[in-house]
Amino acid sequence: MRNAATDICQTLQNAGHEAFFVGGAVRDQLLGIVPKDYDIATNATPDQVAQLFERTQPVGKAFGVVLVRHGGYWTEVATYRTESDYTDGRRPKTVHFSTLQADADRRDFTINAMYFDPISRQLVDPHGGQSDLSRGVLRFIGDAETRVREDHLRLLRAVRFAARFDLEYIPETKTAVEQHASLINLTAAERVGSEISAMLTNENRSRAMADLAAFGLMDNVLPELEPLQQTPQPHDHHSEGSVWNHTLLVLRALGDDTPPELAWAALLHDAGKTETIHHEGDTIRYPKHAEVSTKLMKQIGKRLALGSKLTTAASWLVAHHHVFDQWTEMRPSRQLHYFDHPQFASLLQLHRADIHGAIPTPPNSHDAVVKRLEEIQAAYYTAIADKRLPQHNVPILSGRDIMELLNMPERKRVGEIAKAAYDAQLEGDFTDRKGAHAWLQARIDNV
Ligand code: ATP
Ligand code: MG
Repeated sequence: MRNAATDICQTLQNAGHEAFFVGGAVRDQLLGIVPKDYDIATNATPDQVAQLFERTQPVGKAFGVVLVRHGGYWTEVATYRTESDYTDGRRPKTVHFSTLQADADRRDFTINAMYFDPISRQLVDPHGGQSDLSRGVLRFIGDAETRVREDHLRLLRAVRFAARFDLEYIPETKTAVEQHASLINLTAAERVGSEISAMLTNENRSRAMADLAAFGLMDNVLPELEPLQQTPQPHDHHSEGSVWNHTLLVLRALGDDTPPELAWAALLHDAGKTETIHHEGDTIRYPKHAEVSTKLMKQIGKRLALGSKLTTAASWLVAHHHVFDQWTEMRPSRQLHYFDHPQFASLLQLHRADIHGAIPTPPNSHDAVVKRLEEIQAAYYTAIADKRLPQHNVPILSGRDIMELLNMPERKRVGEIAKAAYDAQLEGDFTDRKGAHAWLQARIDNV
């Protein structure tokens, strides 16, 4: 991918234009991280870019962005531009093609406004991004307050970049975000949702969520979570304190490569505790809090347009995060149906993080739950290896078979028997048709 982007710069430069890697790719490279994509900035106009390459696609020609197909990748080539008319604090109305300096000025943070020429290996850094990066600070380009008023999404971008790269906010950045937090409400919900998803899928998700709360952004984007800071937990199981403290530790306990549905589920799993809290003598309970948390997850998924696939998966995880409490009393076939769920591996991860996100007193009092989790996980992998999941096993007895064999027309009852037969098959009660008939006969004789 890097080679493809370098070739594109070479072609542009051979035609007499300027061409640089820009933004995230340059920043990541200085941090020693492999960039996930390479964006190119050039003084060539979109038409000139399109003429130089065989396969191109204008993304927003008015915005000066052309996609170039080369070396098996699509690379974004953007003409230097200034943006103006931020009348509604959202997206700029008009753009003008301009110089590298002006192109740098419109960008959000100093660390995101560096240019690297892959051929001469020259770094162009008009706003001191490299020095901010090495000192570990996040700084808006220009006046922080103005930049936040121009585009309110930058409130969230500040938190996302600071958390992701472990940066401190310079005081002006911090003040601007704190003072204008409520402006985030004017941003399209979908953009807010994808910013938060981006924070949550990064390994520093817990810092990002803590900052959102500290800056008063949480109150605006996820008000459902605000009361968790005042929701207490029983000290013996949760010496970490409030439900919010627990939630942050659970987020931290998730792995580096956490899919968005699992991260959202971790954020919401105990959100229902505020509404369901019940003091019983010295202890505290939250009857059916998973149901309330699930309702909140669905509500947030809808409001922030997270998409039905993500919302459904996250809601399933939240709804079932206590299933392991009853696991040992469950019929094996029921366990196998759980194993079969596409989110089951994530449910195990959520449970693991939930355990490690609690600090019990005495410290070893969670050993039994940890052991149970290890056993369930082992059983899960064994069941997959032995092809025992429903997805590996076609029912031996169909509803039609049962109707014929028992000479039975009634549909509902046939359905029940077919389901029972399939569960018995999964549990290994029979393995072929002959066995199935015998099982059915014995069952009927017993009725
Ligand atoms: P990531 O790895 O998350 O993609 P990135 O730096 O590439 O990081 P993008 O959101 O892809 O971030 O944006 C690319 C570049 O465009 C940024 O580096 C920044 O220079 C500029 N940019 C993006 N969004 C804004 C914004 N809202 N305001 C100002 N500049 C922006
Ligand atoms: Mg990017």
